[in-house]
Amino acid sequence: MNDVKKMYIDGEWVVSASGQTRDTINPATGRVLATVTEGTAADVDRAVAAARQAFDEGPWGTTPAGARAALLFKLADLVEANGEELGALETSDNGKPLRETAYDVADTAACLRYYAGLITKPTGQTYEVADPMQAMVVREPVGVCGLIVPWNYPLLMATWKIAPALAAGNSIVFKPSELTPLTAIRLFELIEEAGFPKGVANLVLGAGPVVGARIAEHMDIDKIAFTGGTKTGRAIMTAATGNLKKISLELGGKSPCVVFEDADLETAVDWALFAIFANQGQVCSAGSRLLLQASIHDQFVERLVERAKQIRVAPGDSEGVEMGAMISEAHMEKVLSYIKIGKAEGATLKCGGHRLTENGLGEGFFIAPTIFADTTPDMRIVQEEIFGPVLAVQKFTDEADAIALANHTIYGLAGGVFTNDGARALRFIKKLRAGITWINAYHPTYNEAPWGGYKQSGIGRDLGTFGLDGYTEVKQININLAPGPVGWFEA
Ligand code: NDP
Repeated sequence: MNDVKKMYIDGEWVVSASGQTRDTINPATGRVLATVTEGTAADVDRAVAAARQAFDEGPWGTTPAGARAALLFKLADLVEANGEELGALETSDNGKPLRETAYDVADTAACLRYYAGLITKPTGQTYEVADPMQAMVVREPVGVCGLIVPWNYPLLMATWKIAPALAAGNSIVFKPSELTPLTAIRLFELIEEAGFPKGVANLVLGAGPVVGARIAEHMDIDKIAFTGGTKTGRAIMTAATGNLKKISLELGGKSPCVVFEDADLETAVDWALFAIFANQGQVCSAGSRLLLQASIHDQFVERLVERAKQIRVAPGDSEGVEMGAMISEAHMEKVLSYIKIGKAEGATLKCGGHRLTENGLGEGFFIAPTIFADTTPDMRIVQEEIFGPVLAVQKFTDEADAIALANHTIYGLAGGVFTNDGARALRFIKKLRAGITWINAYHPTYNEAPWGGYKQSGIGRDLGTFGLDGYTEVKQININLAPGPVGWFEA
């Protein structure tokens, strides 16, 4: 059991109560990367008890914001100092190119520093009220937070939740995806090295329906913060009703990237490729629907396809790679099945549409950048989140048509518009029912700005001050400035 990677509970590295293990696979080679302990509901219970103790009775509850910030700054320094190792680990566990994991590591350190800085800034409100009272509002930590994240940005998604949760003074029970546990394990080693008190930050490894489900239903967890699929989000929301946990959900999307005829063609083509094919299309906010004005449609698609065919797909650690492996064989099969569906629905396959196996890629799980044109709004490849390198192109006539098509899904996570008409750009974005939007760009995101969706893309926001608010309770305090009997009942 010595080389089995462990979980971090109550300040100790431990194996699961069940003794079971799970292999984690390098999706670029199909080979086993590491063996990790497989947690169970009993391990969640242990972690929650430790987090409860740390929050209710341990030193964490009285650790001032400045001291919490110092720990987070130290953690950011450690992440940076170990950045190359973290990046390589993420690439081997997740499949994404090294240049993407380098961004993820840099963003991770920046996010930790953002919340370390934010937590010491002015907060609360005061009110003038009618009575001889001073009324004020303070923010306090929610308590024990259960944090569950997916595999597409393992380290970054972990940090988006861990940084504000700890900054606000909560204790946490964190679960990464069973497919990508390795950078989370390394991050918790750094959390230990940074010197967070025991029990404050706990890591439980294991399957979603076992470990994740237990976190969601646990009566001693006060808040659950989840990033993942909409179906899982719904299950978590239901499970969380037992003790009416606070919940925040960052869910899926089918986001539109919209190009009007006056946009610069080469610029828009370049961003449209980035919108769908970055991170192998495994991005919740991916521009997976490309809406083109009819007058530029054919020319645009021709150029887009030409560029898509040039994308270099290879293992994430190889020279010049632009797109890596899909996360797993099962997910690759799911994406390939959507490609079959697209063909059967009558969409025109313009490029890709198959698994890549030449030059040794057959050992891993690679899919060629895929573009479908001649779609109709109700096709499944237009409505459902594929979460892979598959783009559905749609055609629109005018601004009203573009808005109607853009909003015609159950999701409302993100969207971008390309046009040189500034007024039209803003008119369009104001009508778009989505939480994250861009004008003449797609994808850039910032720690300072809130991240989350409208409609079935979620509840609440990560990042920014909004993200921090989600890890706090709001308390009003009314102070009597003229203490004396109230006099309501006769003495
Ligand atoms: P899942 O919803 O399958 O999994 C997300 C996390 O939830 C994983 O840790 C998973 O564990 C866990 N989980 C699975 N089942 C349960 C359950 N019943 N109760 C509690 N936890 C559970 O999503 P994917 O991993 O497939 O990730 C892709 C999805 O994430 C996409 O839909 C994407 O849009 C969304 N996403 C949203 C983002 C946003 O900010 N809005 C950002 C990134 C992704 P395990 O993997 O171990 O089974």
